[in-house]
Amino acid sequence: MTELIDDIVSVSRAGTRAAGSASLGRRLGGTSVIVFVRDEAVGVLLPAPGYSQTLPDARAWRSFVDVCARLGESGVAQIASPVDGSLMSVYGVSDGKEIVMAVLGTGTAPACTGELRQLLPLLASIFKGERSAANAEAQARIARDAAHRSEELAAALDRARGGLQRALADAEVSRQDLKAVNHQLRDQAMELEAQAEEMEAQGEELASQADDLQHANSQLEQARDAAEQANRAKSEFLAVMSHELRTPLNAIAGHVQLIELGIYGAVTEQQREALARIDRGQRHLLGLINDILNLARIESGKVEYRLDPVSIASALEDIRSMVEPQLRGKELIYEVSLPDESLTVLADRDKVQQILLNLLSNAIKFTPPGGKVTVSCATSGSASSVGLTVADTGIGIAEERLQDIFEPFVQVEGGRTRQGQGTGLGLSISRDLARGMNGDITVESIPSEGSTFTLWLPSVSTTTQGTLV
Ligand code: ADP
Repeated sequence: MTELIDDIVSVSRAGTRAAGSASLGRRLGGTSVIVFVRDEAVGVLLPAPGYSQTLPDARAWRSFVDVCARLGESGVAQIASPVDGSLMSVYGVSDGKEIVMAVLGTGTAPACTGELRQLLPLLASIFKGERSAANAEAQARIARDAAHRSEELAAALDRARGGLQRALADAEVSRQDLKAVNHQLRDQAMELEAQAEEMEAQGEELASQADDLQHANSQLEQARDAAEQANRAKSEFLAVMSHELRTPLNAIAGHVQLIELGIYGAVTEQQREALARIDRGQRHLLGLINDILNLARIESGKVEYRLDPVSIASALEDIRSMVEPQLRGKELIYEVSLPDESLTVLADRDKVQQILLNLLSNAIKFTPPGGKVTVSCATSGSASSVGLTVADTGIGIAEERLQDIFEPFVQVEGGRTRQGQGTGLGLSISRDLARGMNGDITVESIPSEGSTFTLWLPSVSTTTQGTLV
């Protein structure tokens, strides 16, 4: 009986089931046993070796249990296996509802049928306990796994939380930075907007100024056209008038000479003096008209320049005779001091003489008797030009008038020295002529001490020097 119980117990246990099944089978006169236990709603098979554990078909199970129950204590039958349907020789014992024990491979009912039936409930409860223990262990394992996983998860969460916190701190710093940048950008945007508005206003102002300028420009152009036209008309008028005046003036000079020669009868001393005054007046007038004509011709661009190498020494020599009487009349010292007798400029000889004559006449005219007039070379200046100075010890010119004297009809000195001499055209004509020959005239002066006029002309290099005029 004890061995029987041991075998039944080992059949019900998972670890010893196969051995227990074989041992119990032999003890009951068969080969092995299969125990069927209804566990809750599902039938569970505690199989003999070679049988699977789960019943495949509920109907097959029920009919199997029914057959086993009907066999009773003596029943041995050939029945279909509920597992694979094959015929097996079986002795079955059952409690009629929950549990069936089938002994396979036996032809007779075992002797211990009564004990077996009593032991069936024990077998069922051991089996159920086993199952519960297995279930509990499986659930404990699941719970352990779950706990392990949740620990891992917690650690991972911790790590993630740390990372998140750092990221949050970084994000906060970035947010603050962004906020600052945002402020800055807003300020800059406002500044830019203000600048844009200012620029727009300036643009509008500029546009209106441009309009004004354009308007002023067109007015200026009109004025310039009108002035040019007036200038041309003036030059033409002066040219015609000068020509018309010179004819009767020359006639006056001729008649004065005829009277002086006594052609119309004897001339008294008083008449001779009057004739001399008429002659001086006529010459002055003729000079004036010639100057006006000259200026008109220069302004209308009708003057032609014949540029050749001109020897300064020889040009000065030629005009010496012309200024000699005036120099002597005022007892002035006249000195020509050229460093080099062969000093040569590229110019129109007649015009150089006209300019020098004008500068010398002015020097004599504005220097009191006993003074000195000197012609020499300027010390400064580039190698490409020659400066010829005419200096005097005369009345000089106030600094603020130095540029005015080159304007037509400008005369600086007062009425005492004027005495009908000059027209105020000489320097204007002279400077125009000098510029027409690529030169210029400059002046330095100290009132009461004297003036120095410098005529600048292009020098002639030795290679280009040709025949001297
Ligand atoms: P003009 O001699 O016929 O009056 P210019 O054009 O030659 O005309 O000279 C203009 C003025 O410049 C003169 O009236 C005079 O006031 C001044 N001027 C010219 N040369 C001298 C000089 N050497 N010394 C002082 N004043 C001068």
